[in-house]
Amino acid sequence: MTYKYRAVLLDIYRRSPSKVQLNQISPSALKQQGIEILALDFDGVLAAHGKTYPNQELDNWLNESIKLFGAKNIFILSNKPMQKRIAYFKSYGIDFITEVKKKPYPDGLNKIIALTGKNNQKIMLFDDRLLTGCLAACIAKIPVTYISKPYKLTPFFISLRFLERAIIQLYAFIK
Ligand SMILES: [Mg+2]
Repeated sequence: MTYKYRAVLLDIYRRSPSKVQLNQISPSALKQQGIEILALDFDGVLAAHGKTYPNQELDNWLNESIKLFGAKNIFILSNKPMQKRIAYFKSYGIDFITEVKKKPYPDGLNKIIALTGKNNQKIMLFDDRLLTGCLAACIAKIPVTYISKPYKLTPFFISLRFLERAIIQLYAFIK
């Protein structure tokens, strides 16, 4: 799948400004673009890897998004659906997508399409991984924002990110 979508993935990578974090993206600008549903990755995007709760500096961003889009139109799509995370978002009325094949399978995004009944183009996924979230978005034909400056990374994830960018660029070179 990475090979099939190599050109699209490279395009996502090249077109994303460097050092993008979620709170630099204006929820109202997204709304103006016609986006109605937000799908948020957790690790790297909402908090550092393995954390239970979103980073406090995102409080305003999340509150504004809930106000603009409605909690029922915001979904958490993480490959680590921990019980505490699920419960936390539930208290805000935000669904955590569970019981689906992990990204890059598009199943989680397809579940969001099924739950909301919205057209693919009305959904935006925010993810810090090219070969999981961004690839899933390509397969599900959903717009994606690549979070290029994720929250604190462990050396393992730094290597992983380096590797996936290298793979995509190599594949694109092969044509
Ligand atoms: Mg992530």
